[in-house]
Amino acid sequence: AMLALAGCGSGRDGDSGSGSGGDAKGFAANSLIGVALPAKTSENWVLAGDLFTNDLKEAGFQADVQYAGASTTVADQQAQITAMVTKGAKVIVIGATDAAQLSTQVAAAHQAGVKVIAYDRLITNTPDLDYYVAFDNYKVGQLQGQALLDGMKAKKPTGPYNIELFSGSPDDNNAGVFFNGAMSVLKPEIDKGNVVVASGQKDVKQTAIQGWKAEGAQARMDQLLTSTYGTKQLDGVLSPNDTLARAILTSVKGAGKPTPVVTGQDSEVESVKSIMAGQQYMTINKDTRNLVKQTVAMVKSLQAGEKPEINDTKSYNNGSKVVDTYLLPPVAVTKANAAEAYANDPKLGPLTK
Ligand code: BGC
Repeated sequence: AMLALAGCGSGRDGDSGSGSGGDAKGFAANSLIGVALPAKTSENWVLAGDLFTNDLKEAGFQADVQYAGASTTVADQQAQITAMVTKGAKVIVIGATDAAQLSTQVAAAHQAGVKVIAYDRLITNTPDLDYYVAFDNYKVGQLQGQALLDGMKAKKPTGPYNIELFSGSPDDNNAGVFFNGAMSVLKPEIDKGNVVVASGQKDVKQTAIQGWKAEGAQARMDQLLTSTYGTKQLDGVLSPNDTLARAILTSVKGAGKPTPVVTGQDSEVESVKSIMAGQQYMTINKDTRNLVKQTVAMVKSLQAGEKPEINDTKSYNNGSKVVDTYLLPPVAVTKANAAEAYANDPKLGPLTK
């Protein structure tokens, strides 16, 4: 049976996602392409905006790249998408700030003949989404879960290990997918008693950090340390990304406790430094340059009136349909393979020398 990756209605598993195929007409080569990104909650979004501006221009398009504001993100993004439709955009690429709050705007875009691509984050509960392009989010979670186990074992050959779980923002579809991927690896160990979530907080709701906010993660870790780790040793923490990982490490340090094995994601500069210094244990490399390239390739296909390349027609049921998807492979990075993983990254390569 398919895993309910989208974390919403299980609806029509197995649907090939037909109806969102190529548009024989295409559109003018210098058309306007809209890119609506969420708030800058992590470095990958900042980089994505710069790359879209550059790569779309290089491909001959006009680019309108917008970020949702820091506080009123949902309304901001809704208004930005609506404005892009009015301005005559032919494709709108969306990194959703709230997966479930865009169906009206996406429907209006579709009605106006605009193709909609969900970028990195799925848009849920709409039949009007055409494509999804992302790194394999479930795999990200699996890599995090496995690295957590490996890291703890390297420090202490036998369990039981005490861990705590964190997940991302509930309005981001990715948060649940990352968590489910990680739990697919951790749950068998938890069931065996080899890994213990000492606080008892194992549910994705109990572990969520609204808005992917560092201060939220730090506050929750402070609470967990007080409530559960007076005398117990904390061996590991599942953190869904680097921003939260560093906040968790700050909390642990502030409490004067030994450094646990902490996972991450995004290969943020500060986290790669932390990994090289033996603090954060791992991160995930999702090279934003490749994701933007893949997205721009989709836009070019649509411009030419061709169906964009996809490689997954079953993983992402958004509650209304199974979305035609292109998934890129994420890479797990620890101190051991950092130099190799970032060899071609001008920002991260030098940090690992
Ligand atoms: C992205 C992550 C990122 C998080 C917070 C997620 O949707 O996939 O890479 O860490 O959002 O910005």
